Amino acid sequence: MTDSITIALSKGRILDETLPLLAEAGIELLDDVKKSRKLVFPTTDPDVRVLVIRATDVPTYVQYGGADLGVTGKDVLMEHGGEGLYEPLDLHIARCRLMTAGPKGQHPPGGRIRVATKFVNLARRYYAEQGRQADIIKLYGAMELAPILGLADEIVDIVDTGNTLRANGLEPRDLIEHISSRLVVNRASMKMKHGRINPIIEKMAAAVRKRQAEA
Ligand code: AMP
Repeated sequence: MTDSITIALSKGRILDETLPLLAEAGIELLDDVKKSRKLVFPTTDPDVRVLVIRATDVPTYVQYGGADLGVTGKDVLMEHGGEGLYEPLDLHIARCRLMTAGPKGQHPPGGRIRVATKFVNLARRYYAEQGRQADIIKLYGAMELAPILGLADEIVDIVDTGNTLRANGLEPRDLIEHISSRLVVNRASMKMKHGRINPIIEKMAAAVRKRQAEA
């Protein structure tokens, strides 16, 4: 196994907040990620390359060793299950809450309910833990529509300001988990490439601590 390192980053808002932390670990992309249609980017470290992919694909790439390290949201990791991954560092970025939500002013109906979400595994676990019977309906986006159109009684979704819920006549109900982005590492890579990976984790951890001290 070579000592080259592949890091899988989530595109979108997580990427914007991850790049400065990576830069503090001495790793900067050689192309402008906003202008390029590349998926694999060389970096200022000739032995490190960066993949820019969908957040939901990051745990899969890292689990199977397609990437040694990755950055994605705790929501995505909870849905994936975390198999084959270490999660050594909370980056404290892209913070939000994973919540249940339903039509404003309505109590959830008693008995078996229907829940629309893209987080089906997570939702199934959550309602089972709560001792509530729930039929989980998988949607890929615009979960807020489901209660309005009678598709579901409740949704499980990411909430930041709550504006999206409010704009669609919904309100948050129960907090499932506080969410932030995490650094994850392939378990085999952690052993085999320890000497390369550990300094990256430590430098990123130092950058996170510095940010928090400044906040
Ligand atoms: P808000 O209207 O501010 O509550 O934002 C809610 C929407 O923004 C959700 O439907 C999410 O899709 C998205 N969102 C907000 N924060 C995050 C985050 N940290 N990670 C992923 N999606 C987010």
